Amino acid sequence: MINLILLGPPGAGKGTQAKRLEDKYGLKQLSTGDMLRAEIAAGTELGRKAKAIMDSGALVSDEIVIAMIASRMEQADCKNGVIFDGFPRTVAQAQALDAMLAEKGRPLSAVVELKVDEEALVKRLNNRIAETKARGEEVRGDDNEETLRKRLQVFRDQTAPIIPYYADKDMLQSVDGMAEIDVVEQAIAKILQQARAA
Ligand code: AMP
Repeated sequence: MINLILLGPPGAGKGTQAKRLEDKYGLKQLSTGDMLRAEIAAGTELGRKAKAIMDSGALVSDEIVIAMIASRMEQADCKNGVIFDGFPRTVAQAQALDAMLAEKGRPLSAVVELKVDEEALVKRLNNRIAETKARGEEVRGDDNEETLRKRLQVFRDQTAPIIPYYADKDMLQSVDGMAEIDVVEQAIAKILQQARAA
């Protein structure tokens, strides 16, 4: 069973890679961002509270995302393994995930850090917004340069400390996230093969 964490700042390509790994290995992508957006779309109380926080670029509370992941992992489609995308985002979340995985008897296979250049991310975002608008589609509430810069700051302050946390446990592997999508996918596939063989 594979249990993989994809780590990296917003826009690094975690979601794109997670979707490819889902198809290739029969894993389930667990994106707390997608789960929160589903709550917003459903108009729940949680969604209403989360939307204001998400639009500002800040993080929603650890308790909320930890509870969402804990219940989602119990579902049948997660039994082959999961890819955590956008979770954990704080050391407290990483510790909670460790405890959860230990309790469920699901070992962590690897933590893959997608390393990217922040200015290139801002350029990518602006291209994506222009393309979305050109297709006549609605741009996400947190998809603008100001919020991205805030989210990058939040990443540096609150999420980056989980990099040494996993490095100390010998779980961390880094991949060049600026490479072509296929090349990044191959690098992650190699890490997964090693994790499976171990
Ligand atoms: P994402 O789609 O992963 O980039 O997440 C979008 C937004 O949802 C983030 O900017 C946060 O406001 C919130 N969010 C998603 N995952 C988490 C998490 N693990 N912890 C706290 N907030 C999160």
